[in-house]
Order: sequence, then structure tokens, then C-alpha cells
Amino acid sequence: MEETFSRSLVDISRLYKLSEDELKVVENSDRAAEDLAVPEYEHYLKHEFNSEAPGILAKYGLLGISINKEYGGLQMNPIVSVLVKERLGQLGLGISSFINVQMLLCAQTLQRWGNADQKKNYIPKAVKAENIYAFGLTEPEAGSDPASMQATYEEKGDAYLINGTKYLISNGTIADYMIIFAHKKSSQKEITAFIVDAKSQGVSRTALHEKIGLFTSDTGMIELDNVSVPKENILGPVGKGINVAYSALLNARLGVASSCVGVIEGSLKATVERSKSRVQHGKEIGKHQLIQQHISAIRQNLEMAKWPVYYAALRKAAYEKDYADKQLMADTELRISLAKRIASRLAFESADRAVQVHGGFGYSLISPVGQLFCDSRVARIYEGTDEIQDLKIAESVLGRDFAAYK
Ligand SMILES: Cc1cc2nc3c(=O)[nH]c(=O)nc-3n(C[C@H](O)[C@H](O)[C@H](O)COP(=O)(O)OP(=O)(O)OC[C@H]3O[C@@H](n4cnc5c(N)ncnc54)[C@H](O)[C@@H]3O)c2cc1C
Repeated sequence: MEETFSRSLVDISRLYKLSEDELKVVENSDRAAEDLAVPEYEHYLKHEFNSEAPGILAKYGLLGISINKEYGGLQMNPIVSVLVKERLGQLGLGISSFINVQMLLCAQTLQRWGNADQKKNYIPKAVKAENIYAFGLTEPEAGSDPASMQATYEEKGDAYLINGTKYLISNGTIADYMIIFAHKKSSQKEITAFIVDAKSQGVSRTALHEKIGLFTSDTGMIELDNVSVPKENILGPVGKGINVAYSALLNARLGVASSCVGVIEGSLKATVERSKSRVQHGKEIGKHQLIQQHISAIRQNLEMAKWPVYYAALRKAAYEKDYADKQLMADTELRISLAKRIASRLAFESADRAVQVHGGFGYSLISPVGQLFCDSRVARIYEGTDEIQDLKIAESVLGRDFAAYK
């Protein structure tokens, strides 16, 4: 098994004893990472979606880690999901983004909020990657403040008509089904989630290629023009869509934090290899003390990032057993915000140091650290920006009276 990752397994064993079944899944993530490395690199060089990723991930069961067995999943503790995302994060955030959307934002949200038919119809196909899913919350004018969304729905016979534009949506142009959020035309406050068939009349999608990273993830804009959605496709309670959205974001936020630990591991591994092989001024650059300072800093970053992520996963495991416990919910949210804020900052900083140690080669798109650098920047933006996490963390310290937004 990959060396830095084996060390994580030793670390985690001090907090949580993985069962044999859990360990097998984690080992599978190591195999999947090996199978995915070459295709991921090739698609990255071409700046296109890694179309091989869904099949490889499904083959190893990695799209069902947090999904119940009755829907074809593995039903594992969130700590397993964290370790899997950590391992795959070493390959950058493209694959990780796919898992985030397919499993954490969509399948797990369907599992929590869907009715029996919805769960049966949509979740197993997500786990097997037979269908691809997207999560459409963000709009051109509503990002950090999703409650200000402009997409609307109105009742029309047995269906609802949805109008609006969803922007920066991962899997946006390749999804078969999309969870779309809209507010009642007559009331901004009544937001509802819908499962929308991407083939529906009135859906048009545009790929957004002009990104500065995350090249192997599909990002799109989705326009909905009088799209008719059957009433049975409402997901969760009518008018409570924002709760559905926030629960999904909590899953994915931890997912981002976990893959950021992987980015730090990937940065460390590549930096160590380069430091031992590149010779300048008559010796391996790893023998120059200032290069050792970079290695020490990345190693410190790994230590600072991983423990808050593991701890957040354990809090989430407790919360998933009792969604009604408000105190546990608040603590889980805080732990996940802390984990994401810390890990995403340190991932970007580590990838930057890795580029520095690689010199001019590091700045090239063909160097593996180039991908880690380009990909990791988005972790400070999606699933809640740095600033939004800061506001949540500060509120937990100052108290609700000081909440910057409510
Ligand atoms: C590659 C990529 C993939 C994505 N995938 C998806 C997806 O699958 N589904 C989806 O729905 N969305 C997705 N997003 C959207 C993402 O969640 C949003 O970009 C993010 O929530 C920020 O929203 P925004 O871009 O509109 O920025 P804005 O909300 O406009 O924020 C701009 C700046 O203002 C700051 N800011 C905003 N409000 C406050 C405040 N109250 N106090 C202090 N500062 C504030 C922000 O932190 C930020 O620095 C994706 C984004 C990217 C880049």
C-alpha cells in the first residue's frame, strides 16, 4: 500500500479500530487509485472529464461507501469514506469531485430525504454508476447565499414547472438526473428540491471549460425553461429544500476536507521523490537545508490537517445515528467547518511548496504537482467558501447574537 497512506491507517487506528470489512474497502481505494492514476493524468492533460473514473470507482464499490446495503452500498462509518477520499485525493480533486457529487451530494441526500420509490429507483444506479447525477443549487446571482436563488417552480396540474439557471454545476453536462432547487414563484422562502430528468424538454446545458483547475471534472451551466417535473419527483418536504441542501453540503464539505489531506500527501510524496533525485550545486536538492524546510512544512501541514478531519468524521458518525440531536448537529457542523477550512488552506499551501521544490518543472502542466496546485484552489471555494466557514467558526465562539448572517 502507498506509504504515506499506510501511515494514516496507523494514525487512525489510535482513534478508531477499522473492522476487516472496512479495511478491505480502504485497501480497495488504494487499488482504485493505482488503476485511476494513468487515465486521470491522460484526461488531465487533455483537459477533459475522466470518463473512466465512474466505472473504476463503481467496480471497487467506492460510490456506495456511505449508502445502505439495501441500495447496493457498503454502509460504512464516515471515517471509511474519509480515508478513501484521502487516498484518491493524492490524484488531485477531479475524481474526488465526482465522488462528492455522485455519492455525497446526491445518493446520500436521496437516501436521507427520498421516499421509498425514489430510493429504489435512483440510488442503486448511482452506486453502480449506471446513471450520473448532478446537484444544482448555485446560480449566477446566488452562491454563498443560496436562499436568494431566483429559480422558481409553480404548480401546473400533476406537475411543477421549473424556470431558472443553475451555474458552476459539477457533472452538469453529463448527468442523467439532477437534484434542482427552486423557490415557489409566489414565495422566496419556500424552497423545494426536485429530481429532474436531464432529458426533459426545456433543459439546456453548456460546458464551462474556462477553469483554472479541476480539468478532469465536468462543470456546466443548466438552464431550465418551463421544465415540467412530475409531483412524485419532489425530494424531501415541500418548502424545506434549504434543509435538504444544507444536509447535502455537510456531507460534501467533509468530503472536500478529506481529499485535501490526500493533496497534502501527494505533495509530500512528490516533493520527497524530487528532493532525492534532482541534483543542483553538486548534491541532491533534499540535502539543501531550505528544501528540507519545505519538506518539514508540508509534513507539518499533513499533521495539522488530518486530525481535525478524522475527528469531524467521528462526530459525523455519531450524528448520523441521531439526526434529531441538535447539539450534536451543531458540534458536527462546527467540526466539519474547521476541518474543511484548515485542510483546504493547508492543501493549497502544500501544493504551492511542492511546485516550488520542483522548480520550473513544477510550473509545467505535465508535472503531477502542477495538477495538485491547480486543483486544490477550488477547495477554498466550493461547498462553502473560506469566508463562510470563518463566519460559522466565529459564530461558534462568539455566540448566536454575533451571527454574521442568520
Ligand atoms: C469548479 C466548481 C464546481 C462547483 N460545483 C457545484 C455544484 O456541483 N453544485 C452547486 O450547486 N454549486 C457548485 N459550485 C458553486 C460553489 O458552491 C460556489 O462557487 C460557492 O458556494 C461560492 O459562491 P459564488 O461563487 O457565487 O461566490 P460568492 O457567493 O459571490 O462569493 C464571493 C466572495 O464573497 C464572499 N462572501 C459571500 N458572502 C459573504 C458574507 N456574508 N461574508 C463575508 N464574505 C462573503 C465569499 O466568501 C467570496 O469570497 C461549484 C463551483 C466551482 C468553482
